[in-house]
Amino acid sequence: MVFQDLRLDPRLLRSVQHLGFAKPTDIQQEAIPAVLVGRDLIVSSKTGSGKTLAYLLPMMQRLLKSRALSKQDARALILAPTRELAKQVYAQLRLFIANTPVTAALIVGGENFNDQEKLLKRQPNVIVATPGRFIDHLEHKSVFIEGLELLILDEADRMLDLGFMPQLNAINKAASHRLRQTLMFSATLDHAEVDELTLSLLKNPFRVALGSGHEQHSDIRQQFIFADHLTHKEALLQHILQHEPIKQLIIFTATRDDAERLAALCNQQGYSAMGLSARLTQGQRNTVMQQFSGGKYQVLVTTDLASRGLDLLQVSHVINFDLPKHAEEYVHRIGRTGRAGAKGEAISLVGPKDWPALQKIEAFLRQAVEFTVIAGLEARFNGISTPTTKRNAKVTSAAAGKTVKKAPNAKPKAVKTAKKTFFEGGDDGTAPVRRKKIDAV
Ligand code: ADP
Ligand code: MG
Repeated sequence: MVFQDLRLDPRLLRSVQHLGFAKPTDIQQEAIPAVLVGRDLIVSSKTGSGKTLAYLLPMMQRLLKSRALSKQDARALILAPTRELAKQVYAQLRLFIANTPVTAALIVGGENFNDQEKLLKRQPNVIVATPGRFIDHLEHKSVFIEGLELLILDEADRMLDLGFMPQLNAINKAASHRLRQTLMFSATLDHAEVDELTLSLLKNPFRVALGSGHEQHSDIRQQFIFADHLTHKEALLQHILQHEPIKQLIIFTATRDDAERLAALCNQQGYSAMGLSARLTQGQRNTVMQQFSGGKYQVLVTTDLASRGLDLLQVSHVINFDLPKHAEEYVHRIGRTGRAGAKGEAISLVGPKDWPALQKIEAFLRQAVEFTVIAGLEARFNGISTPTTKRNAKVTSAAAGKTVKKAPNAKPKAVKTAKKTFFEGGDDGTAPVRRKKIDAV
């Protein structure tokens, strides 16, 4: 199939051509026709498989071809969990609205509220937003969505993890037009809360699942390395920095402090590195992202703030300095590499504190992982034996290069964790909302 077969408006086809895309990706082939016939949609497909265009193209087609239900109200709303992702989606959208009468605005936290009010007064047709700040405007009556025709949730499950269910319900209520179409996207959409969201927001949705989060991503080589403690992890990191052919690298850590410290360590190793965390002002966050995506820096050290959706094609390596507490985040973090058909490397350091997280990841991936041993940097830590996981396999001596130690076939069980909640200001810097405990975003 080629893009022409989708019968899109010639202006959209020209924009696609401009991007140099020869044919729609698998997920685009499935999703675009379903949206065009008016279905609600729930799409899960692997990271980097082209989900953004799978909603932007049919959304634009609908806006160009059908009459607006309301002259004043926004016609389409795209929500994303982080400001950085919302910005990226907005940038792509701008390519498609060029040469069309469609107007758009970006509404994210950390930016001037009054300026955004002015933007919204101009009644943009499409709004790309983070949920916290959007709800602020809705409550402030600077935006109206009774006539909303398309509600699109990118990384929908992450918005739930961040505690945005009440906001999503409020938006749903404010835009409950029966002609509204709702689309949900992620690489990981199979938890119970997503089902709840689907039931309340979507009507008889068409489900597309292509290469779900559980499946091995064919373009990403995954390695796991045991580590004893922080200093050992730093030595392993240095080894990786010295030996891997890194174009660009994202290092994920559990805390903002680590993000700053490891950025300094990379700089000492001759890599230009920046830290990105929610501790920075929005202006600083924008600068870091612009400079990293522009290639000015080689390494980005960050928290789960950057685990979702960001499309940085020069990222050849991802390192999990600490494992994420939520197994889905593992899939999203490593998915920052190996995008759009490119190959990527994902290396995870596993210390005693990471062990529970590793078990969750194995349960999520439905397989036991294999460990790599780096000669001279072997760990004494070799996993924690529990009645369900016996990991007492001998460490192979690693005289030269790397040897691979096969982890015994632990049968991973689905792990259910108690969900704690606490109050905290969101990624949006908006009023505190009740949210689940997450890592330092
Ligand atoms: P996902 O949301 O599934 O993680 P993205 O929408 O961010 O993936 O797309 C990943 C990359 O693939 C982007 O760089 C995008 O420009 C590119 N891409 C999207 N559609 C196509 C296509 N039809 N052909 C080639 N590349 C594409
Ligand atoms: Mg995406």
